[in-house]
Amino acid sequence: MNTVKLNNGILIPTIGFGTWKIENYDLAVKTVKLALKSGYRHIDTAAIYGNEEAVGQGIIESKIPRNEIFVTTKLWNSIRGYDETIEEFEESLSRLQMDYVDLYLIHWPVPIDFKNDYQKKNIETYRALEKLYCAGKIKAIGVSNFLKHHIEELKSDISIPVMVNQIEFHPYYFDQETIEYCKSNEIVLEAYSPLGRGKVLNEKIIKEIAEKYSKTPAQICVRYAIDNDIIPLPKSIKEERIISNLEVFDFKLAEQDINQIKKLSHLEGKIGSNPDNASF
Ligand code: NDP
Repeated sequence: MNTVKLNNGILIPTIGFGTWKIENYDLAVKTVKLALKSGYRHIDTAAIYGNEEAVGQGIIESKIPRNEIFVTTKLWNSIRGYDETIEEFEESLSRLQMDYVDLYLIHWPVPIDFKNDYQKKNIETYRALEKLYCAGKIKAIGVSNFLKHHIEELKSDISIPVMVNQIEFHPYYFDQETIEYCKSNEIVLEAYSPLGRGKVLNEKIIKEIAEKYSKTPAQICVRYAIDNDIIPLPKSIKEERIISNLEVFDFKLAEQDINQIKKLSHLEGKIGSNPDNASF
């Protein structure tokens, strides 16, 4: 599996498997096992997905050594503060049946419950992540849905640099400012909803490019993220899709095709919530 080096030297696989909305326990166990059998070595979950237990069980049942799999989970918006974060992290760990996670992210920057003092709360929360990182319980720490100003607000008060930012990224959405900022600050980017939640797959240009490379529209989207140096996290519950979404390492998109796809971002835009105004 190809990897990317984080700013602390930890290697992260270039593609991960998304698990949002795979809520049913048995289905989640089965799907995670399938993903691992297909070759994924990077699984993305979150406390709010309600499937950490199943993800952990799928990993155990895969019989693949724990240290060969990169596992990410995320702190939900209802929890902020130093002690609260440490406590909640331990609960995630126990649901996952693990003694460490590879990457722990603050899921959203401005939870509705902490809207008035979210900057202060994010600093306290990030300090808990630093503590857990220093204790070896988290191999890498980061954020998700953070825009440039959210990271800048953290920066002056933290001592361990942010390693990863997981953001929305697909042919319909290119957040130039966040992408440029993270790249110039050695923050590795991950692409959530890299297939535009399936919406983008019928787009004419994507289909034409897919035909040109003898690939599927989904493979073009996955490769589009990789060719932008962003780690895609495609999700599927269907075996043939799980397998084919990973078959993207035998080609590379030409510059002109990357530019053509990028132009689609002027059509639809963001599918998910605005990080500054999320209603949760
Ligand atoms: P994706 O862009 O991965 O799209 C998933 C959808 O595409 C599903 O409906 C799936 O259906 C379908 N699909 C998958 N593969 C194919 C294929 N080859 N051909 C046709 N359709 C396909 O959306 P997500 O929003 O799930 O994003 C991926 C992951 O990113 C999440 O699972 C989660 O881990 C993470 N995420 C993080 C967020 C954050 O705030 N940090 C927010 C949103 C997502 P089916 O399952 O039936 O195959």
